Amino acid sequence: MLYARLTGLYSQLESTTKILEMREMIAEFLKTVPDEVLHDVALLITGRIFPEFSDREIGVANNLMLKAISRVSGASEPKINDIWRETGDLGLAARKAMEQKSQHTLATKELLVEDFVSKAKKMSELEGPGTVDRKISLVSELFSNADTSSVVYLARTILGQMRLGVGEGIVRDAIAAAFEADASEVERAYNIICDYGEVALLAKKKKLGTISLQVGRPYKVMLPQKTDSVNSAFDKVGKPCVFEFKYDGMRIQIHKEGDTVKLFTRRLDDVTKQFPEIVAAAKHSLNSKHCIVEGETVGYIKGEPVPFQEISRRIKRKYNIDEMSKKIPTVIFLFDCVFDGSSILDKPFDERRKILSSIVRSSESLQLAEQLVTGSKSEANEFFEKSLSNKQEGLIAKNLKAKYKPGSRVGYMLKLKPVAETLDLVIVGAEWGEGKRSNWLSSFQLACQSDKGLLPIGKMATGLTDAQFGEITATLKPLIIHQSGRKVKLKPKLVVEVGYQEIQKSPTYKSGFALRFPKLIRIREDKGINDADTLGRVNRLYASGGRVG
Ligand code: AMP
Repeated sequence: MLYARLTGLYSQLESTTKILEMREMIAEFLKTVPDEVLHDVALLITGRIFPEFSDREIGVANNLMLKAISRVSGASEPKINDIWRETGDLGLAARKAMEQKSQHTLATKELLVEDFVSKAKKMSELEGPGTVDRKISLVSELFSNADTSSVVYLARTILGQMRLGVGEGIVRDAIAAAFEADASEVERAYNIICDYGEVALLAKKKKLGTISLQVGRPYKVMLPQKTDSVNSAFDKVGKPCVFEFKYDGMRIQIHKEGDTVKLFTRRLDDVTKQFPEIVAAAKHSLNSKHCIVEGETVGYIKGEPVPFQEISRRIKRKYNIDEMSKKIPTVIFLFDCVFDGSSILDKPFDERRKILSSIVRSSESLQLAEQLVTGSKSEANEFFEKSLSNKQEGLIAKNLKAKYKPGSRVGYMLKLKPVAETLDLVIVGAEWGEGKRSNWLSSFQLACQSDKGLLPIGKMATGLTDAQFGEITATLKPLIIHQSGRKVKLKPKLVVEVGYQEIQKSPTYKSGFALRFPKLIRIREDKGINDADTLGRVNRLYASGGRVG
């Protein structure tokens, strides 16, 4: 199939922000795609070459792209850099550079989707000396075989920066509409196999119902909603229900098939190599030939749990893995089982837990999550305190009879944590955004007061609506003192109230602390910088775990 056809769809999608229109455009397009390329085309519509469950990457970053654009267009790298800065988008920079190229060297061949996909796959396989050069050549070949409009999307897809605004819901509904399937069936299928290409093909063949969990392939885990008290937990999940410690660590799916064990994170990353101690424990302590179990991995030093970030640092680690696993040994607390010989997603939670208990032979690094089945408020509150005094996050309340729904934040599983206090902080710096956000300041540097003046404590990029980005940008623009690249330094004036998940010690910021997941609660025009929170308060909140209640 000609790539230019896909380019036509992309520009149609860019011409609207209406979800229904986008869905319609994609559905109509999918109907016309031949089976042989449907898998790749459906993925490309989501901006991907490889499905979400795969850990393959094309491995072309901005700098390499810049070199490729320069090679194929003849424009100098600084010139392309300038256009990139102006537009905030290397795809557009690539098009401009190509447009300025003299006519006679324009496309000689018409690019096919199949060519693009096979070259992208080739790039992901390259390694060793000469890789950079080979990748630059492959990107250049793609560009020289494409028309200038296609170059924009080729570059964005290669960089993983498609930004069409095509969210998961739109693709799901478009596949359902194109092939007359039920949207909830498409969603279920996707949450289990995490590949819209395969889902589209199976929907077209009316085979969505055949999709089931596969040992060795990660799926989207079920997630809890929030609640704020034991009583409201009872109201929502039923009485009695089961309470479990909410461990403060990293969720891991363990897939065991005979002697082969694979580990995946909640974001579907394969971390088998990174956690050899869990692999060994799973081989030895899981008494089932084919199973998938889930749990939370917590790191311990001298019997004390370490902050989540210490463990999450191990996710991308390629070297000194054994050393790390000795330095911070982990324990996995298992709380669910979804496969034992066959899928048990549809069994009620209490049965799944029974199966889990029958499979697990507890060992030092693999244990069952602590739980309590009760209908008593005081018992539940005591258990909550016990979890906190064990330095865990709180509780998870679960309905005893509920099924496991992959990929959903379900109302029959609730997290109960102490409430974190907010902080009022001053914005002292920011960065111009990219792509759709290129006209806005984003990624705001936050600071608290101290004897030494304002000290940075983190960067906030979430929690803002488009209107708030606009409003904050308008307020901050006159306060710009200095600009270097996309980074700006600001006169301290604007105070914002910020929520966060946790305060952590950190050498990154001068305050010595960092906020985990800072999020805008509101702009505090009523406050001046002298009303902002102090390092002393940050210290006190840190000491109390950043919590009240
Ligand atoms: P949150 O990340 O705040 O939405 O909380 C959900 C996460 O809590 C899950 O993804 C798990 O990683 C974690 N968790 C810790 N303990 C449990 C438990 N006993 N049952 C389920 N999830 C748990």
